[in-house]
Parts: sequence; structure tokens; C-alpha cells
Amino acid sequence: MSSASESPDKATANNPLKHPNSRIAVLTSHFTATMSSEKDAALAAAAAPPPADSPTIFDKIINKEIPAKVVYEDDKVFAFRDIAPQAPTHILLIPKIKDGLTGLSQAEERHCEILGQLLYAAKLVAKQEGLGDGFRVVINDGPDGSQSVYHLHLHLLGGRQMNWPPG
Ligand code: AMP
Repeated sequence: MSSASESPDKATANNPLKHPNSRIAVLTSHFTATMSSEKDAALAAAAAPPPADSPTIFDKIINKEIPAKVVYEDDKVFAFRDIAPQAPTHILLIPKIKDGLTGLSQAEERHCEILGQLLYAAKLVAKQEGLGDGFRVVINDGPDGSQSVYHLHLHLLGGRQMNWPPG
């Protein structure tokens, strides 16, 4: 990180973590103060959309290259706790093989099976987590949907009363 005496422009130019077009900036947004919200992260992601099948931080989690609190795994689906929970229970469910599913908007007919498996796994995990009074499943898609990681994922949120409309 830059020192306090460094000018903001220089710090930005020299530090890939702060460059507005850097994917690294997006992926580290939850650990730094450079981006204040999910919306900021999504806007930064939109500024530099990745190629369809470029690896994301979720590949590293699947491959156990970085740690995650895994709550469910089967042959197709992987689920782990969100690092920045928006509810007492906040779990992400992802396909182990992305197969072009950077987001729901990229779904093709061949993805119907995995999409169904993800939803069914969400139900299983909700039960496992004791969310008998209800829960919410969210898929953010693209810049307007505030998507920040381009590997399709379901957010499973529960443990509190949800509000409507969502922000
Ligand atoms: P979205 O904004 O819909 O693309 O959701 C991406 C989610 O991934 C956010 O809720 C982040 O908090 C979450 N996230 C990013 N990095 C990690 C990580 N290393 N472990 C767990 N969750 C993460």
C-alpha cells in the first residue's frame, strides 16, 4: 500500500490494487478501504469485464488455493460462507465447472441441469443451516445487478427478516 506522503495519482498508478480497471482491485475490494460498497466493486468490474472463462477468486476457492468456510460440496456444486456477510447466514453456491457461466445472462440451454442443481443445493443448505422460517436466494447479474465476481453464484441469505424492495 502507498505511504501517506505519496500523492493519490501516483499511488493509483503504481499500485495495481488501486487501479480502477484492475480485476485485482475488484477481487480485493472486500478487504480494503479503496471501495466503499458492493456497488463500487460492481462498477469497477464493469469497467474491465473479464474474458468469459478467465479464472476468478472462486476458482482459487474451489481449488483450495485460498481458504473458505465450506458448508456444502457435491460433484457439481460448491458452497461456502460469504466473506462479507449481509445477513446472519450468507452463503455462496457456485458451479464447480463454470462452463461459460460468468453470470446468469450467459446461460444456455445446456446449463439447465446445473442451474437446477444450484437451486436444489440452496434448499439443502438452507435446511442444513436451520433456515426453517425462510430465506432469500439472490443472483446478481452484470453491472446493473451489482455483480462483482464473474463466476455464476447464488447468494443464500437468512437468519433475519428480509426487506422488499431490495436496494
Ligand atoms: P456479487 O457481488 O454478486 O458478484 O457477489 C460476490 C460475492 O463474493 C460478494 O458477496 C463477496 O463478499 C464475495 N466474496 C468475494 N471474495 C470472497 C472470498 N474470498 N470468500 C468468500 N466470499 C467472497
